[in-house]
Amino acid sequence: MQLIDIGANLTHDSFDHDRDAVMQRAREAGVVQMVITGASREHSPKALALAQAHPGELFATAGVHPHHASEYTVECDAEMRALLAHEEVVAVGECGLDYFRDFSPRPAQRRAFEMQLQTAADTGKPLFLHQRDAHADFVAIMREFEGRIGRAVVHCFTGSREELFACLDRDWYIGITGWLCDERRGQHLRELVKSIPAERLMIETDAPYLLPRTVRPAPSHRRNEPMYLAHIVEELARDRGEDVAVTAANATATARAFFGLPAATGA
Ligand SMILES: [Zn+2]
Repeated sequence: MQLIDIGANLTHDSFDHDRDAVMQRAREAGVVQMVITGASREHSPKALALAQAHPGELFATAGVHPHHASEYTVECDAEMRALLAHEEVVAVGECGLDYFRDFSPRPAQRRAFEMQLQTAADTGKPLFLHQRDAHADFVAIMREFEGRIGRAVVHCFTGSREELFACLDRDWYIGITGWLCDERRGQHLRELVKSIPAERLMIETDAPYLLPRTVRPAPSHRRNEPMYLAHIVEELARDRGEDVAVTAANATATARAFFGLPAATGA
């Protein structure tokens, strides 16, 4: 089984003491490639550096998460565009809207999102998108760029059936995380994932966040790791009524085409 984690925050401080061991455990679990999420002015350059240190295995995105939207100045925009000139940087983002936490004011979120959509339009690179409790504004802003931007994935999809179909109708891709394994708030996804066409479905851990609650034995720490992607795809396959090898192969092929990744070499 070859897996691609399309969303791993591997530059997070919690990996500083054992990042190599984390990567090795991921390889042993079948994770052959990862896209390292760049989500701030501080971490997007780190994501590129990590990808450059592991050519062909790690790739990066460059962007600013809505939580950090207040830092999206003109200088920041230029920095992101410079990062995107590197071939290891395979997508614009993480960007989007988050009205659940509102860590940055909503007008700042909308402005940073629009500027990053413009970058996607200018560079032709795909989009790695975040949306939480902001569906209507999110769709409205995306519509302004219709016809100018290319492929887009709504990462860590957690929304309703209506929101899922709104995304699929617009040919957006869907990223599924271990949120699926959360019996308190992810139960509805168990049914919804049956409706996602294989050629639109990708998988991700969002590590170190969102440790799947169904991992047994439950780790003593709360940190999620890319190796748990193998667990997520098993749960996802069961919910879709597919053989896990089929779900995994399809998600890998979809991710490779979406981000334009080469075939995995090592592993
Ligand atoms: Zn996110």
